[in-house]
Amino acid sequence: MKNSNSVWHPNTQMSEWSEFPEIVSAKGMWLYDSKGGKMLDGVASMWCNVWGHSKPELISEIIKQTKTLQHCSLFNLTHSPAEQLSKKLLNLNPKMHSIFFSDNGSTAMEISIKLALQYWRNIGENKKTNIASLENGYHGDTFGAMSVGYVPEFFSKFRSKLFSTIQFPVPRSFRIPEKMSSKEYEDQCVVKIEKRLEKDNSIAAFVMESGAQMAGGVIIYPKNFQRRIAKICKKNDVLLVLDEIATGFGRLGSMIEYESQNSIPDIVSFGKMITGGYQTFAATLTTKKISNSFLGEFSQMKHLFHGHTYTGNPTAAALSLKNLELYKKYNLIKKIQKTSKIFKERTEEISNIGLVGDVRHKGMVMGIELVRNKKSNKPVTFSQSTNKVVFEEGRKNNIYFRTLGNIIMLVPPLAISQKDLNFLIDGTIKTIKSLSGKLL
Ligand SMILES: *Cc1c(COP(=O)(O)O)cnc(C)c1O
Repeated sequence: MKNSNSVWHPNTQMSEWSEFPEIVSAKGMWLYDSKGGKMLDGVASMWCNVWGHSKPELISEIIKQTKTLQHCSLFNLTHSPAEQLSKKLLNLNPKMHSIFFSDNGSTAMEISIKLALQYWRNIGENKKTNIASLENGYHGDTFGAMSVGYVPEFFSKFRSKLFSTIQFPVPRSFRIPEKMSSKEYEDQCVVKIEKRLEKDNSIAAFVMESGAQMAGGVIIYPKNFQRRIAKICKKNDVLLVLDEIATGFGRLGSMIEYESQNSIPDIVSFGKMITGGYQTFAATLTTKKISNSFLGEFSQMKHLFHGHTYTGNPTAAALSLKNLELYKKYNLIKKIQKTSKIFKERTEEISNIGLVGDVRHKGMVMGIELVRNKKSNKPVTFSQSTNKVVFEEGRKNNIYFRTLGNIIMLVPPLAISQKDLNFLIDGTIKTIKSLSGKLL
């Protein structure tokens, strides 16, 4: 077991890799490596790339902002990129009133949790200290985020140091109890949540991804599920905290996913696509009710106890502002709605492959669950990790994959053309077919 890599790669068994392809440049949908090879970026560089790489308008915005103000803190000061971006985000997000900027999705979720807990202290409700969430949800890799979005396969090693949360099953269509329709299963999930929230007045907030669980394996919520949860929360005085880090800004086909789900949160976070995928940045938005509770005399100590060195970084903020302008200029949401029809049209073709147990898609994301055979629905296994095997096979077809367990994720840059999306799907089909000979 040796590897010559000094760079520790994320969620990776380093001994499986003697070397990693070195990417030297990227343009449009393509990543170019040091040996002259190229791969289509099938995961939007971890679900964040919007326009493809090297988009001229975004590059010039970075250069422009960098020439005048690279970084200056928001401690005691402000700057135009943060101010303008907050106006823009508040215009986009119905019912939201103030914004806290941070550096990545995990920090945005830490802030969401702190806001929710401190809100109840601020208004003198000291019993509300628990957080409810959905099983299989994912909200980031830091301790608060791991506690709330507890995915056992990822985080069991840290269990003893995570705070406990109240977790509810999530409605799904695949792997549900036998003899139950997905609608019956959904109703059962909702009733469980409703009953607990009605009798348990210790719950401060209900935290969930908006529209779908992504890292949990592309579990797309049934049509009214999120709206039903929002209603239950409202009725029982529980804050609704939504995570749109992966699903907002067009990934599921809507600019603001909570709006299309008819559910108004008290707190909502965005990350990943906010800068178009070029810099690290995130935002947590709250309603007036929440932010007003933090006002008072200094001595009351009601202000938010949170801050980061790079909070509201001007370069990232200017870039986000430009990115959001381009959404409008190029009518990106319309384009996504059109392009994503290709996923739908080709679902059956993918489902028919022997190793495919289930295919789920919405907007610009598709999850393909690989199974040994359609009868057992047992996950595939290989002599190496599924991710490594799929990655190597995908590379032969010029596609960059990063699987989640036994699930192939197709999460291309949002502005991908129909032609490139078909190339991605063709390469995915070829890749899956070539896997059968490699099963353990
Ligand atoms: C990626 C992700 C996060 C964490 O964001 P990072 O920028 O990786 O810290 C949180 N929630 C969801 C839904 C995500 O997909």
